[in-house]
Amino acid sequence: MEARQGAAERSVVRVERKMHFGGDTQVDDRNVVITPMRPELTDPFLLLSEDWFSSPGFEWHPHRGLETVTLVLDGVLEHGDNIGHVGALTTGDVQWMTAGRGIIHRELAFRNERAHILQLWVNLPGEMKMVDTRYQDLLADGRPVIETDGARIDLISGEAGGVQGPALNNWPISGAVITLEPGRRLDHLLPGRDRAFVYVLSGRVTVAGRPVRAGEIAWSDPLPQASLSSIALEAADGDEHSVVMVYSGEPIGQPVTMGGPFVMNSASEIEQAFRDFHSGGFGDIPNQARLQFR
Ligand code: MN
Repeated sequence: MEARQGAAERSVVRVERKMHFGGDTQVDDRNVVITPMRPELTDPFLLLSEDWFSSPGFEWHPHRGLETVTLVLDGVLEHGDNIGHVGALTTGDVQWMTAGRGIIHRELAFRNERAHILQLWVNLPGEMKMVDTRYQDLLADGRPVIETDGARIDLISGEAGGVQGPALNNWPISGAVITLEPGRRLDHLLPGRDRAFVYVLSGRVTVAGRPVRAGEIAWSDPLPQASLSSIALEAADGDEHSVVMVYSGEPIGQPVTMGGPFVMNSASEIEQAFRDFHSGGFGDIPNQARLQFR
């Protein structure tokens, strides 16, 4: 894709490797790519977790004050929630869930076989934390793909090449999965005011001059004076394609208080969320049957 005139060139401020957390009571195995330990460094993103699970997975639990964006890497993700959504997502599909004021949902491996997912937590500003709950399936087959010389942009959210991605946003976020042929370069355009990350799913990519391998994430801070910016992605030579996930969003710049599945601005708002959930303010825990194989 040709670099647009006037796009400020981004730099990378740090490269980090995913951390192996191992299995727990819910998952068979977990890697954490983005931790919420220093939210001011990752704002508006809070968490990126790579999970493998079979049984039990994530049974009924609530969320408030954030959005979760889940990409299925392998297997089948079965989901259900208390606003009536139920279904299964397969490889490449994305689920964009706005918890807003409150949802109760579950995320399971279909038939308790193995699901492999990447889940991103996107924060919402205080004035949007109690927005209406919303659920969007962004299926792989239904997303726009922008193909240029040696690069394929699978667009999830935001704009690329004059095309708009399918996700409806509260807080504007751009997101894409980009496949590069060996040795190819793409100057990927992003809003200048955004913080951006590039997570390498496979292959090796030089991001704004920094070599980044599979399992590593490169961070780029906002360029607030620039309306438009570009980040240089250059795939290594060789035989294999490189695949990266690129997300960006403007930092929210508010205090972040996390309490379990809730993300608010203060401890009292977290306590309120627990009170609301336990007093039935999120609604009843659904009593849905598991999806059946037909
Ligand atoms: Mn959840």
